[in-house]
Amino acid sequence: MALQIYNTLSRELETFKPLKQEAVKVYYCGPTPYNYAHIGNLRAYLFEDFVIRTLRFLGYRVKTVMNVTDIDDKTIRDSQKSGKSLKEFTEFYTEAFLTDLDKLSIIRADTIAPISGLIEEMGKMIEWLIKKGYAYLADDGSIYYSVSKFKKYGKLAHLDMKGMITSVRIDNDEYEKDQVADFALWKAYDKASDGENKWNIEIMIDGEKKSLDGRPGWHIECSACNYRYFGEQIDIHMGGIDNLFPHHQNEVAQTEALTGKQFSKYWMHGGHLLVDNKKMSKSAGNFYTLPDIIEKQKNIPEVLICRAFRLMALQNNYRENFNFTFDRLTAGVNTIRGLDELIKRLGRYISKLPAIDATRNSHGKLKFHDISREFRENQQAFMQEFIEKLEENFDTLGAMTILFEYQSYINSAIDEEIFSIEEAKSIVDLLKSWNEVMSILDFSLLESEKIPEEIEKLAEARALAKKLKDWHEADRMRDEITSLGWKMIDEKEGWILEKI
Ligand code: AMP
Ligand code: ZN
Repeated sequence: MALQIYNTLSRELETFKPLKQEAVKVYYCGPTPYNYAHIGNLRAYLFEDFVIRTLRFLGYRVKTVMNVTDIDDKTIRDSQKSGKSLKEFTEFYTEAFLTDLDKLSIIRADTIAPISGLIEEMGKMIEWLIKKGYAYLADDGSIYYSVSKFKKYGKLAHLDMKGMITSVRIDNDEYEKDQVADFALWKAYDKASDGENKWNIEIMIDGEKKSLDGRPGWHIECSACNYRYFGEQIDIHMGGIDNLFPHHQNEVAQTEALTGKQFSKYWMHGGHLLVDNKKMSKSAGNFYTLPDIIEKQKNIPEVLICRAFRLMALQNNYRENFNFTFDRLTAGVNTIRGLDELIKRLGRYISKLPAIDATRNSHGKLKFHDISREFRENQQAFMQEFIEKLEENFDTLGAMTILFEYQSYINSAIDEEIFSIEEAKSIVDLLKSWNEVMSILDFSLLESEKIPEEIEKLAEARALAKKLKDWHEADRMRDEITSLGWKMIDEKEGWILEKI
């Protein structure tokens, strides 16, 4: 099967065929750094991370760009309230946002572009839009996009445009579908609302050079960012569903009016995050940031919470709403603990294998380096199923089901001690390759279960002491092994060492 993507543009599943370029170009809308990101925002970045990781896992070369909306209504408003400069204010929250991404093992975009660095590009685009008749200068020095000029307006957001276009203009960055109107590309400087925050563009209008103070609108920011880093066309554009209208619709109107080409081939949108099935809001008291949920579960290590939150997102169809509850988070923590135990068991099994193998050889069973045909077939089947799930429009929930089936298969086979060393290693390799998408497994646990040489030596010395019936010395050595964090369990022939 080939990769299928649900394209918001067609509202259908489509077979992914990248534009013929050196890499798949993926863009997603970045944060508006006016506060800490909430877990709904982070859910959007998790889904985008799964998509990008899956593309790479499937063998595509991928280039990613994310903007940072450091100029918008909210950053300007709240930076002034805080008494800090816009730069200082937005850099602080951008840093906090990137820290959240790191904690959730979300790979940072190859290019992270604060919009304040792209004013010149925006000026150029606005100038072209005016030249081509898609934009006009208003009396106050603002520039608006003329929605009625773009015949395909509403196609992406699936709006019925009949009778909708009015001559009304809208200044806000965010507005509702029933407010379709000419939107601002450039907002004239207004000291009352903008304070000291103003930028300047110099553009030619009807052969006359105009110098305009003001600030860009939100939508032109993403069009300019895409154009600057990717050129006219990209493969995939992503964002939360709330970005579909007006933001993404307006990006299409701007970019396609200029280039005459399809802007993004595929549009992907993530569903909303709800808390206890309700919209998250400060007034309802169900509004959480990542540090909030860590703080609320103080008895659980932070890294476990973060891995569990990531797992919750994996276990959710990205297009559907994501219902966050603390019960589900706790269940996620338990699942992660089970996966950690699996890795530890594998580590223990691998270090125990020489002893198991010696017994096996004496019984003429499977040899140390053998890989049985049955094992190979199982591995191939598991890998195939995992890939097929992801190829069905990034069905990470389905892929997780395969992981859990694999987990019980490994656990029962380890119970029966049937894997050879090569087989055990190949299990670790397969889990590592899946983890390139999931990024929830901790392979350092494999090493931590390896028996240190010092412990091995003590165990041998204790076995010798027992043989010589020096019980006192044998007990002393067992205690020493225990104090070093290991448990020595005597068996009929030999012993097992387990980490406490
Ligand atoms: P913003 O910082 O508001 O520009 O949003 C950043 C990202 O979070 C965008 O992709 C939004 O679509 C997404 N987003 C915002 N609120 C939610 C939510 N409650 N659930 C899921 N995604 C959201
Ligand atoms: Zn955007």
